[in-house]
Amino acid sequence: MTSMRGRNFLQTPGPTNIPDRILNAMHQPAVDFSGPEFIGLANACFSDLKKVFKTEGEVFIYTASGHGAWEAALVNTLSPGDTALMPETGRFSLVWREMTEALGIKVEEIPNDWRTAIDPATVESALLADKGHKIKAVLVVHTETATGVTSDIAAIGKAIAAAGHPALLVVDAIASLMTVDLPMDEWGVDVVIAASQKGLMMPPGMSFTAANKRATDLSRDVVMPREYWSWASRLDMESYRRFCGTAPEHLMFGLRESIDMIFEEGMNEVFARHARNAQAVREAVAVWCSDGPMEFNAIIPEQRSNSITCIRTPEDTFADDIRATARSTFNVSMGGGLAALAGRAFRIGHMGDLNDPMVMGALGGIEATLQLLGVPHGKGGVMAAVDYFAKTATR
Ligand SMILES: *Cc1c(COP(=O)(O)O)cnc(C)c1O
Repeated sequence: MTSMRGRNFLQTPGPTNIPDRILNAMHQPAVDFSGPEFIGLANACFSDLKKVFKTEGEVFIYTASGHGAWEAALVNTLSPGDTALMPETGRFSLVWREMTEALGIKVEEIPNDWRTAIDPATVESALLADKGHKIKAVLVVHTETATGVTSDIAAIGKAIAAAGHPALLVVDAIASLMTVDLPMDEWGVDVVIAASQKGLMMPPGMSFTAANKRATDLSRDVVMPREYWSWASRLDMESYRRFCGTAPEHLMFGLRESIDMIFEEGMNEVFARHARNAQAVREAVAVWCSDGPMEFNAIIPEQRSNSITCIRTPEDTFADDIRATARSTFNVSMGGGLAALAGRAFRIGHMGDLNDPMVMGALGGIEATLQLLGVPHGKGGVMAAVDYFAKTATR
């Protein structure tokens, strides 16, 4: 039985732990959103978000899940009948593809095995083959949350440039923002999509599109019907128009605190912490996989994400039991296998507000689960994580 005391270890790949500082920042009365205090807070958030996204462009805030920002990116950059190139990565690229097609945009997909990153060479050759420039945008998922694979966005940006093709590069960074670096301007990314409940450590319900000048200029010419999602009216400084309705004040209070916490720690330090936590998880998982049928879903070690680790279990065995028992018996919540991986994988989220003992605690709960259920595995995964943390700690 789950202990009623202590905290649940929230290792789902979104939502992630919300730090007390953010919870407390949100715990206040509603305010006048046209008053100087709120306007000042909103202005500061909009301008600080440019540092978070590393862009000179514009960042737009939506009171919506990541799906809303997906749609916003599409309707502001593409017209019905346009073609988009979408390298497959996993369940999230599939769902985004369905949305793209539902909006009347044709999709040319580059197939993928859900275990490896996007091959930039395939993007380059698809664009080289498109002599008439029918492809208007390349839509890519940076970290595919269903598979635990991160693709090389800088290389994809270079592939588009090498092909000499004018397609926009639009990146879903919902699971990667603030877990790995994504300097959008430097890497030639035109639009970045993100959401609040992952690396930003906030509650679900807020999402973002960051767009460079090329993308905001283009948005004036596209003829996709849109209103709520439209960037044009949101460029108006008047608060009610900027948010297309009442500002999500409490999420803005949370966002202010989130950005403060990220800047206090330092963005590079946040990335380094994620890399270290992820590596500790991988050290443990490698030991579990060293004996028995479990394996990393991501085949190539360098492509394993710093946000989430996806572990394959034997077909039609264990995965959902492992997840349910870890939650009900050891207070560790994880993600399950999605779509093609349903019932055949479990996913450990390691993004956001986490430190060494939280990671070790979660791994301990998972290893105890494997033992309790008699899942064949190599013993000593937690110890490998302890060794790694000790070896890489600074005093
Ligand atoms: C979580 C996630 C989404 C969906 O975000 P919602 O807020 O659930 O709509 C999309 N893409 C990726 C890569 C994600 O991790």
